[in-house]
Amino acid sequence: MREETDLRVEVFPLGPLMTNCYLVYETTTSSSIIIDPGWPDGIEKLAQRVRKLNLNIKAIIATHGHFDHILGVNKLKLELGREAPFLIHSSDEILVKTAGEMSREVLGVYIEPPEPDDNIDEGDTIELGGSRLIVWHTPGHSPGSICLIGDEIAFTGDLIFRGSVGRTDIPLGSWKKLLESLERILRLPDNTVLYPGHGEPTTIEYEKRINPFIPRNR
Ligand SMILES: [Zn+2]
Ligand SMILES: [Zn+2]
Repeated sequence: MREETDLRVEVFPLGPLMTNCYLVYETTTSSSIIIDPGWPDGIEKLAQRVRKLNLNIKAIIATHGHFDHILGVNKLKLELGREAPFLIHSSDEILVKTAGEMSREVLGVYIEPPEPDDNIDEGDTIELGGSRLIVWHTPGHSPGSICLIGDEIAFTGDLIFRGSVGRTDIPLGSWKKLLESLERILRLPDNTVLYPGHGEPTTIEYEKRINPFIPRNR
């Protein structure tokens, strides 16, 4: 049975790589988190929305340390003007440090990367009113990739997309680990809605049926 809580999700695709930044909030308490504010352009609109809804942002969480998921954090903190901590898995701090250089390499734009305020890891929970999101450490696309798992809802970063999966042919990527993480996420109930780091939302049921990267002998 669902608890008496009302979790809402709004998406703000940000930056040249159209990274999905998610505003997640619980309506009865206005407690909220922001996932993957990846790029400065468009942050004003997100901050406006936060002010309009009068949300209390408890944390800014990165699903992983790739530049397109974190380079809007500094601007977001400025815009919000309050102390929401920026959290990331410790294994991706190295990616955060080099994110500005990576952005220059890939897009020709240097943006100062944020400093993590704290780390999150497997089993940590984020309470939003009566709702709760649990951190799963799901490496593969990067060593410190995480998913946030709720009740029939999951934020999956660049682990799985609608009909695809995250790249592993990149520094620190591991196909073997990504497959293990995929196996784990696929054990969620079929009706779980997945909110990926790029593109449209999907469900476990849909991905089991059509995702060509998922082994079929399940
Ligand atoms: Zn990525
Ligand atoms: Zn990405």
